[in-house]
Amino acid sequence: MGVQFHFCELYNNFPLDQKVSLNKSCVKKVIAAFEKEGINLKEYENILFFFSDNKRSLRYPDELGSLISKTSPEYKDFQNNYTDEIKKIKNFSSFEYVIYLSKRVGESDCEIFKILTISHECQHIIQDLKIRNIILKAIVLKKYLKLKCRFSNEVYRNLPSEYDAFRESKRISFIICSRENVENFLDKKIKCYKNRLIYTSPSSNGINNEASNLTYWEHIKAINIEELFDLDREFEKIWAIYEKDIKKEISRISRIQTNERKESEKDFLEAYKFLCQTKYIKIDGS
Ligand SMILES: [Zn+2]
Repeated sequence: MGVQFHFCELYNNFPLDQKVSLNKSCVKKVIAAFEKEGINLKEYENILFFFSDNKRSLRYPDELGSLISKTSPEYKDFQNNYTDEIKKIKNFSSFEYVIYLSKRVGESDCEIFKILTISHECQHIIQDLKIRNIILKAIVLKKYLKLKCRFSNEVYRNLPSEYDAFRESKRISFIICSRENVENFLDKKIKCYKNRLIYTSPSSNGINNEASNLTYWEHIKAINIEELFDLDREFEKIWAIYEKDIKKEISRISRIQTNERKESEKDFLEAYKFLCQTKYIKIDGS
């Protein structure tokens, strides 16, 4: 079946058709660019590109996009948040992956912005096809960092699975939009958020997340796509370091009464259980 699109009705200021066709054409360009590199995403899996109205962003306010795999705990959350929209999608359960794209991405007129976000999420699918349990492990790491670390977003962004997705998205965007255009776009974003940080943060009390936006774009700018990067090896290295602490934290939370656990602790525990179960099924079933 390949690729399908779903658009929530979110496009208030422009004709819907115009927005829909720009978004679709960006997805198609990304898929074609990956195909040129020998990765036929449509052949591998059924993917749903879901352009949201940002209900889900109540929980993740800064998120531009995310990959939801059928075998991840986020799948259930997604189903609960978008019950009505899902009813409109034919054969929803046949999609192995849902690429969730936020209102900010869907509504934007900027092709480079869309291409970067869409190819980032596509790269997570490729990671998942190549490296066993990488998505689930990354979710566990994310939830562990949320519990433990004040700058969890910044740390998470630098972990191998994210670094690889940013790196690949930059490379794909160079192919589609040219290196020069992409570098200029990144410079402009950095300048814009730097100015906002200096001039508007004091009055807005940082509510517009200028600092977090600035580090986001600086991170992409700093990535050198020519540098070799072995995702499998780097991820294993990180996982080996974190795994002991993760297990310790799991046993600490397990000892707390269920009704006394914090939401973030429940989330983390749930993700870890998912990982253990999936391991079991895959090892046993193959
Ligand atoms: Zn990512």
